[in-house]
Amino acid sequence: MCISKDSEDGQDSHQQGPREACGVVAVYGVDNAALTLYNGLFALQHRGQEGAGMVVSDGKILHYCKGMGLVSEVFTGDFAEHLPGRIGIGHVRYSTTGASKTVNVQPFLAECRDGMWAIAHNGNLVNAGELRDRYQKQGAIFQTTTDSEILLHQLADPTYFGQRDRIRAALAELCGSFAFVIARPHCVYAARDPWGIRPLSLGRLGKGHVVASETCALQQIGAEYVRDVNPGELIKLDENGVKSLRFADVPVGGYGQCVFEQIYFARPNSHVFGQSVYATRTAIGRTLAREQPCDADVVVPIPDSGVLAALGFSHESGIPFELGFIRNHYIGRTFIMPSQKSRSSSVDLKLAVVPEAVAGRRVVVVDDSIIRGNTIQKRIGVLRRAGAREVHVRIACPPTRHPCYFGIDFPETNDLVAAGRTEEQICALCGADSVGYLSLDGLKSALENSGHYCYGCFTGRYVCGTEHVVCKHALERSGPDQLEDRHHRYGVMMQ
Ligand code: SF4
Repeated sequence: MCISKDSEDGQDSHQQGPREACGVVAVYGVDNAALTLYNGLFALQHRGQEGAGMVVSDGKILHYCKGMGLVSEVFTGDFAEHLPGRIGIGHVRYSTTGASKTVNVQPFLAECRDGMWAIAHNGNLVNAGELRDRYQKQGAIFQTTTDSEILLHQLADPTYFGQRDRIRAALAELCGSFAFVIARPHCVYAARDPWGIRPLSLGRLGKGHVVASETCALQQIGAEYVRDVNPGELIKLDENGVKSLRFADVPVGGYGQCVFEQIYFARPNSHVFGQSVYATRTAIGRTLAREQPCDADVVVPIPDSGVLAALGFSHESGIPFELGFIRNHYIGRTFIMPSQKSRSSSVDLKLAVVPEAVAGRRVVVVDDSIIRGNTIQKRIGVLRRAGAREVHVRIACPPTRHPCYFGIDFPETNDLVAAGRTEEQICALCGADSVGYLSLDGLKSALENSGHYCYGCFTGRYVCGTEHVVCKHALERSGPDQLEDRHHRYGVMMQ
């Protein structure tokens, strides 16, 4: 059976498709850090809807607030009064390692010999199992079931402690994708993995600085974009401004920026990896129209993620663009629903067809990707029942035939509809009149510095070793607990 990607509503990805893998924000030297972080996290909500948290330093003490749910649900009322200060970090979570439960909501805090540390992470550490095993053999007690907590144990590790710069020593040992933000009482740090898999940008706000997963957060905060944090770079933000340090050289195989950030994950008003997401997606749609032309009457996007590729397709082909599907924005997050049956019914409720836009017409439907296959299958059925004469499917990336190990929650190979199937077989399975994918070269033609990207989910060739990868729930002690109560957690950690 094939089920498919569902793009926007926070479903359990093991029922649905690729999901974002968290967003991070850090601020230094800004008025009311808590409210600034709130605005930044709000802009990054698309990267994770399971939980949110922030840590703010008033210069001596780290205050925190975190919980399960959306940013607007976790930070309510007078939350900012509990979090005084001008320094802080924040996080929105989608779980890729560790179950969806309160204890795994970031930032994580710990007290080391030299005081308090707080960390927040976007990405996936492929050697987390190995490192965790090493620390547990030494007697370390882990508080969460995530890969991210490893960094706190490294920072507390006496082996590193004697080193002049133990943060860099710790980061250098990590393998996989990471954009880390780290808070101390008097400064913050931000670091990006040597391959640059996940995005991380630096901005200026008044006399202070901001770091965020995407530039849409800088825009929301009112910060001016300065530059991206470079792969393998650790930056320190304190009273002396921005200090840049390197913890890794350029990898032998080169960089591996996640191309799915451009295709699907990032917000269209962001620039990621130095390139406008809006411009990239419309360019992809134009290339798709040239590579996979279609004799049709209307171009219909699958909202929201297929909209810009469909727009580009329409511009290039001259076929009119129509909103044949309308999205229901009030459906809620289905990951908290207890059964697969309730999740499935929410999928059906999410998009409504507009019969007037498609009846009697030859429709070309454009989506960003097909993962498991059943959502597009359902939507083709909906279009036919609404009177579409023909339904042709055009996909704004190559067939997705391999899993991702770097922080995107793809299903395993067996559940990917394109694995082991030709386009003709996928077409027959989905019930379309034709299916056409963008080629890998076509995708690369829309990218600046296309050699700096990871294409692993299309090619099976990954930027770093995946032999020690652990599955999402491998670090659970007693199995996943998807339904833990949602509540706020406030607190302070004394310096
Ligand atoms: S395998 Fe695919 S989703 Fe994962 S980092 Fe590479 S391009 Fe992104």
